[in-house]
Parts: sequence; C-alpha cells; structure tokens
Amino acid sequence: MNPVFPGSVNAAGQMATLGVMGGGQLGRMFVHAAQRLGYLTAVLDPDAQSPAGLVSHHHIQTDYNDPAGLSQLSDLCQAITTEFENVPAQALQTLAQARPVAPGAAVVGIAQNRIEEKAHFAACADVSGVTCAPYAVIETQAQLQAVQDERPDLLPGILKTARLGYDGKGQVRVKNAAELAAAWAELGGVACVLEKMLPLTAECSVLVARGWDGQVVSFAPQRNVHVDGILAVTHAYEGNMPTALATRACDAAVAIAHHLGYVGMLCVEFFVVDDGSEHGGLVVNEMAPRPHNSGHYTLNACDVSQFDLQVHAMAGLPLPQPRQHSPAIMLNLLGDVWFDANGQPREPDWQAVLRLPGTHLHLYGKVQARTGRKMGHLTITGPDVASVKTVARRTADLLHLPGLEAI
Ligand code: ATP
Ligand code: MG
Repeated sequence: MNPVFPGSVNAAGQMATLGVMGGGQLGRMFVHAAQRLGYLTAVLDPDAQSPAGLVSHHHIQTDYNDPAGLSQLSDLCQAITTEFENVPAQALQTLAQARPVAPGAAVVGIAQNRIEEKAHFAACADVSGVTCAPYAVIETQAQLQAVQDERPDLLPGILKTARLGYDGKGQVRVKNAAELAAAWAELGGVACVLEKMLPLTAECSVLVARGWDGQVVSFAPQRNVHVDGILAVTHAYEGNMPTALATRACDAAVAIAHHLGYVGMLCVEFFVVDDGSEHGGLVVNEMAPRPHNSGHYTLNACDVSQFDLQVHAMAGLPLPQPRQHSPAIMLNLLGDVWFDANGQPREPDWQAVLRLPGTHLHLYGKVQARTGRKMGHLTITGPDVASVKTVARRTADLLHLPGLEAI
C-alpha cells in the first residue's frame, strides 16, 4: 500500500481524499480527524441528514450497494474505510477492486456474523489465550431440538441473532427450553447462537490499530458499564481493572487482530467472569471492525484518538503509540436525556454541566431525540481519578444518567 499523504495533490489536481462507508456518529468523528490532518473526506450514506454527511466535503447519498454511488466514492477517494459494521461486505469488495479498503470485506464479514466471529475466536484461542462463552449454533429446528435435549448447560442463556444485532437488539434472555423455542420463533427462526448466561463481574474492551505492514498499537483496556444492553459508562484510568486482567485483555486483542490480518481500528469486547480465581476469568465477547463507543474518551484524554489511528492505518501512515494524559470517564447521552419523567421534551441543562471542570460535550448533530438513540457523549477528564469521579457523578445527577451508581 502506497501511503496517501495528507494535503497531497494528484496529477488530476485532486487533493488527497479519504472515504467512509456509513454516515453515523463514528463516521462524523472520523471525518473530523481526517480533516484536521488535511484530508478531504467523502461519506456514502443514503440519509440526507446523516451526522457524518453533514460535516464532510462530499456526501454521496445512495444505498450502500448502489454501483453508481460506489464508483463515485472510489473515484473521489484514495483510500476507504467503514464506520458501520453492517455495511454489505459485497460493497467493500467492489470498492477494493479500485482502492485500498481497510478493514477489508473478509474481516468485516467475519465480525458481522456471530457464528463466524466465534469460530475465529476459537481458531486463535491458542495464541490469544481467551475463549468465548459456551454456545451452540441454532439454524435449524433439528439444532434447536438438539440444544434443548443435549445442552442443558447453556441455560439460562441469551439467544442472539447471528447477524444485525447491536445495542442489545436481536437478543432474548431465556431461562428454559420452552422459552428458548418461543424466543427462536419470535426472532423469526433466523440463524442464531445460544450463549450461556455468565456471571459477569465486569466488562471491558480493547482498541487496537493495525497497519498495512502489520504494525500494531493499542490503548489500555477500558471498563464498560452497560444498561439495558447499551453502553452507558466507560471508565478509562489506571486501576480501572486488575493489572493482570488488563494485560491479558490487551495481549488477546492484539493476537486476534494479527490472526485476522486486520488493517484499521478494531475493538474487542471482553467479559470478566467470576470463576473463583483471584481476579476472575477473561472471556472474549465480540469485536467491532471500526472505532467503538467505548473509545470516545480517547478524543479528550489521549494525545492520539481512536479516530486519528483509523485515519493513519487506512492511509498507510505510521501508527503513533497513543499516550493517555488524563484519567477519564465517558457518559453516553441517549435520547432519553431530552425527556423528563413524564415523557415531556426538555432541553438538557448544558449550562450546569459545562460549568463543571473537565466536561467535554460531543453532540452528533441528530435532530430528533428518541429513547435509546445515541445523541452524543460527555467525557470528563481531570487531574486525578477522584476528581473525575466526583464530576462524573455530579454530571450524571444533573442529566439523570444511569450506570454510575457503582463507582
Ligand atoms: P454492541 O452494542 O456491543 O454491539 P450487542 O447487541 O452486539 O452489543 P452483546 O455485546 O453481545 O450485544 O451483548 C450486550 C450486553 O449484554 C453485553 O455487553 C453484556 O452486558 C450482556 N451479555 C451479552 N452476552 C452475555 C452473556 N453470555 N452472559 C452475560 N451477559 C451477557
Ligand atoms: Mg457488545
């Protein structure tokens, strides 16, 4: 891969342009990072109001599979990435015929399908040192029956659709064989995995960037708190989890990225389970072939953000080892914040929040607030962990945010 240098102009007089499939908030923060470095940007997303489309130099408003849209994107851009994990792998393949695409269609395809994803985790368990939760694939009535008859160890469990799940969608918790059958029917009998419900003591994720040449850099693991299956809080500071576990998680994520031959930003999510050992056991949950919500704190707390690294990796630039300069807590802002207890719309009290020291507000430019919709996030940084926690608690109180009760 020949590096695409920021600010360079080709023979046709075109300034170096980076493209992204998908126009959500991750694409928007990618666009910001690319533009800061001096690139022009192009976003492909059908939505005229997409958060990234609104801030990009070019916005191609077609479906992800539209041949004309795809060829417009590859004509404009010297390298292309994705921000949206359900982008059709076929579209990435088409783009890759013309331009470097990172991450590639094959790895995105694996991450899009829990069955393939788990098979990959199993295939590299020897080098990563982690396995996933016990599970069974359910694609047919016969498999459902076999699980009901032969795998009582998987119950209680969580039935998850193999494809298109996010933020806890496409998941049903089941206690027994009857509930399992009902849940599979409710999910339309599509390909699923049944995962054993594990006794989680914590969750964490690791962000890894890998270049075309195999160079790897990573951030220290962040500890994540989910509420109703959606990320609510990320704790990013030294001591956020036992050092031994943090090292294992980091090594595992790097091994997984290498094993995939991955290029770009990868996020690997882990469970910490109570297995009777001192710090608990580490289990790999899933991976996202893109920057991740749990890495948003890097924008304010690190000298290089996950979006900077996404840009560097896809463009073939060197990958700087990021350094975190401040402890941080990230609070997700869902649409719920724009409604009071009676469901009446309200404007969040930004005045009060922004008066607190070290609060960094990021709103994604979404016009309509809806319950559960990711509208933005707040990162709190400070000189030490105690003051960050204090401000985070105060912020959560002001905005009625969940997930901080335990700190
Ligand atoms: P994401 O938004 O991260 O893509 P998702 O919809 O793909 O989420 P998962 O990460 O599989 O879903 O699960 C969402 C949350 O549900 C997890 O973060 C965890 O809190 C809980 N969970 C999932 N699987 C299990 C399990 N096997 N045992 C216990 N809790 C689980
Ligand atoms: Mg998840």
